[in-house]
Amino acid sequence: MEEKGTISIKTENIFPIIKKFLYSDHEIFLRELISNAVDATQKIKRLSSLNEYKGELGDVTIEVSINKKRKTITVSDKGIGMTADEVKKYINQIAFSGATDFVEKFKDSKDANEIIGKFGLGFYSSFMVSDKVEIITKSYLDDAEAVKWSCDGTTEFEISKTKKKSRGTEVILHLANDSKEFMDEFKIRSILEKYSKFLPVPVKFGQKEESVEDGKDKDGKPKYKTVKVDDVINNTEPLWTKSPAELKDEDYLKFYKELYPFSEDPLFWIHLNVDYPFNLTGILYFPRIKNDFELQKNKIQLYSRQVFITDEVKDVVPEFLMLLHGVIDSPDIPLNVSRSFLQSDANVKKINAHITKKVADKLNELFKKDRKAYEAKWDDIGIFVKYGMISEEKFDEKARSFSLLKNVDNKYFTLEEYRKHAEKTQTDKDKNVVYLYTTDAGKQHTYIESAQNKGYDVLKMDIVIDSHFINHLEQKLEKTMLKRVDADTIDKLIDKDDKMESVLSKDEQEKIKTIFENAINNKSMTIQVESLSPDEMPVTITMSEFMRRMKDMAATGGGMPMMGTMPDQYNVAINGNHAIILKILKTKNNEAQQNLAKQSFDLAMLSQNMLSGSELTDFIKRSVTLAAE
Ligand code: ADP
Repeated sequence: MEEKGTISIKTENIFPIIKKFLYSDHEIFLRELISNAVDATQKIKRLSSLNEYKGELGDVTIEVSINKKRKTITVSDKGIGMTADEVKKYINQIAFSGATDFVEKFKDSKDANEIIGKFGLGFYSSFMVSDKVEIITKSYLDDAEAVKWSCDGTTEFEISKTKKKSRGTEVILHLANDSKEFMDEFKIRSILEKYSKFLPVPVKFGQKEESVEDGKDKDGKPKYKTVKVDDVINNTEPLWTKSPAELKDEDYLKFYKELYPFSEDPLFWIHLNVDYPFNLTGILYFPRIKNDFELQKNKIQLYSRQVFITDEVKDVVPEFLMLLHGVIDSPDIPLNVSRSFLQSDANVKKINAHITKKVADKLNELFKKDRKAYEAKWDDIGIFVKYGMISEEKFDEKARSFSLLKNVDNKYFTLEEYRKHAEKTQTDKDKNVVYLYTTDAGKQHTYIESAQNKGYDVLKMDIVIDSHFINHLEQKLEKTMLKRVDADTIDKLIDKDDKMESVLSKDEQEKIKTIFENAINNKSMTIQVESLSPDEMPVTITMSEFMRRMKDMAATGGGMPMMGTMPDQYNVAINGNHAIILKILKTKNNEAQQNLAKQSFDLAMLSQNMLSGSELTDFIKRSVTLAAE
């Protein structure tokens, strides 16, 4: 029996289109063929377990091999196989209705997944790389005869009887000249490792030769022989398919290493297991965050029934969790998923919300179970929590209970605890509670000390996201203001209306202001004489909270762009109650007076890390002279 026919797709030129327009994703042909092989194998296993197939199941390993001489790639399975009628039905009649529509609609598309997914062209994707494809198949049915189908990439096919001993299907691709790169073993192996690493049916690629010891020779030296060892590339029972109850921490850590061999151990993980209203399993790991964010992104892998789909999970996983690692497996996401599908699919949206909820629940559980351990992890997880609170309303609500603030003494507080803590001493005259913070405890040390001397608490806000988180807190917490410790002089930082009396007269204040204006001679410094405690510094340089935030926002791309180019505006507070200031006023020698003023100003510059270049050199020289006097 030999039969010729035309593949019924009502258009003559489907193959050139498959070939030409699915350009970027050629390698997925292998995923498609192996997925078909897996399906066929799962089917025979099911029939066998239902006792509808009574034959021997045998070894069902799927084999992929390359024949360099014949320039072919073969994928063979021991699945259910197909009868001649089934080949005609499933292979010849491509299952889509409007072929003309298809050609029209997608001739400009670059997204192979979209086309393949929409029109069930899985098997035909093999024509992206072949100019001839053969199928040799034998159905599991008792009296089935083996069939050979072949097609050279036109819409013509041949089908004939053939000989095949065992049940299953062999797909032989004769690689086209422009696809010879798939002759490369490393290439095929890497594609297999990408898509098939966790397939539920064992997949073997070629056979690896290995040298093993084989007794000793007459001199007592070991003898070696070469044996062929199975080279199964996949783990058919990956961890996420198992029940969390039967898994230990070591198992999760081991699996993490399997996924990311070069990464440090993760902080903790969440095993996802949902069956309603959608199906989803997976494990999400919280990695230790390094500074190179971009390198850590896009590490979550998306699977559909253990077949790898993509590691671009942007639309499945909430943006703020993009730094998580791990796997998500959902049969509700089709294998041939396209970006536009992910964005619009209702299930995907639900998955997104579910993951957010699970992550919040897990963090809450960790916090409740062992606060000390949670605090120890906070420096690493804080970034997720803060980012989540800023970007997701739902997460923000949940995170209120487990989001922490850390002060300069490394003590941790929940938002509620901190309010209670700060309320007592840091409420200003308008009943606002002012939270003080530092972005760099080392550089802002003088100001921190000053605040602490006054009995105030200072928070550490020193990670990238904090400049945004500060705004977020101010918006969300009632009657709360956040100010950096150097935003103002200590008495104005939290304005309590309990001003100190000035020992200077109005005239003296004017005089000292002029002396300093001459000494500083800088337009971006606004000088004011204030009456601070004699224990405070003689001169303090500050930048208003508003001004600095605008500047920070411009620097991180938000806010008004012109702020980035505006000169920095500082406030200089002269402490009229300080002994040095009184000394300056009394000094008769003009030069000595200027020197003292410059010296106290430079000390303020120094405590703000603003002294450099010739100003720094002058300061050092002047200090030496003053000390020698
Ligand atoms: P899809 O897999 O999306 O249905 P394909 O074009 O890949 O589309 O395959 C069409 C049909 O051909 C399959 O549904 C299956 O019935 C049959 N088929 C393909 N490959 C095999 C195989 N290796 N063994 C048995 N049947 C197969």
